[in-house]
Amino acid sequence: MTAVVEILDVARQQVVEQGRGLDENQVLAVLNLPDEAVPELLEVAHDVRMAWCGPDVEVEGIVSLKTGGCPEDCHFCSQSGQFTSPVRSVWLDVPALVEAARQTRATGATEFCIVAAVRGPDQRLMDQVRDGVKAITDAVDINVACSLGMLSQEQTDELKAMGVHRYNHNLETARSYFPQVVTTHSWEERWHTCTMVRASGMELCCGALVGMGETVEQRAELAGQLGALEPDEVPLNFLNPRPGTPFGEMPVMGATEALRTVAAFRLALPRTILRYAGGRELTLGDLGTRDGLLGGVNAVIVGNYLTTLGREPSEDLALLSDLRMPIKALSATL
Ligand code: SF4
Repeated sequence: MTAVVEILDVARQQVVEQGRGLDENQVLAVLNLPDEAVPELLEVAHDVRMAWCGPDVEVEGIVSLKTGGCPEDCHFCSQSGQFTSPVRSVWLDVPALVEAARQTRATGATEFCIVAAVRGPDQRLMDQVRDGVKAITDAVDINVACSLGMLSQEQTDELKAMGVHRYNHNLETARSYFPQVVTTHSWEERWHTCTMVRASGMELCCGALVGMGETVEQRAELAGQLGALEPDEVPLNFLNPRPGTPFGEMPVMGATEALRTVAAFRLALPRTILRYAGGRELTLGDLGTRDGLLGGVNAVIVGNYLTTLGREPSEDLALLSDLRMPIKALSATL
């Protein structure tokens, strides 16, 4: 147990006290902690979150503007048009977007993210997003975020000018593992979009998806790469193996491993909004959601995910109230 005590002591000193995230090697030591050290690890991660983010929990809703039929081949994704997964291409119109934003706001959420399953936006999508963002901003008091794939510099500037508050683009996995997951674009292309978003002044939301067969070393590598990028938000997804995708037969990550990963990412990213995103119900269930919120997570997505059902918003909101964790107010995010 000496090494265990050591890395948790280092984390208390370096991360809780000084706010400096763990580096790749230190994250690896955390990911290799034995199961019996996980409760103590979660306590340290919770202390980090309280020290550097505070008790507030950010609530976000997402809506899919364009679902399915994506030309890319991300092996985990049921929205790729290259696999046999049963998600068909569907578009939403502007009134439906505004209604979804209104319903999201009614849950107390402060962020509303418009998502499209595309490689990157074409002119038609940019025009639709412009109309949608304007209509939502005129009608609903909520921050609008977008997730539209890879961007050019001009598109980045345009989204910023439209008033988009945050842009989501995920690294998904470590650079060294990416070619096993996606062959139609590179990790470097994703990284490039993320750095342009950061430089534009929009907030950057950059997610990770774990449980795709990567090694713990590669998980630590990803935490280090996210630490270098310094995103404002990191949605942490656990693989939910979708039928018909190349990763459809992979096993679901166990709850203890998932919680260890949550805590390790919190220790790498002390100030980031760390959000539970897709797959948490499957991996963690109710108890895990609670443990994660007490182990470093400080944001949740309410309602439905893009292609799978999440939990009822009221269940999450009741849990937050149980845990005495206030929902972050809109003014605090502006
Ligand atoms: S680019 Fe996005 S929508 Fe398209 S296959 Fe990859 S993850 Fe799915």
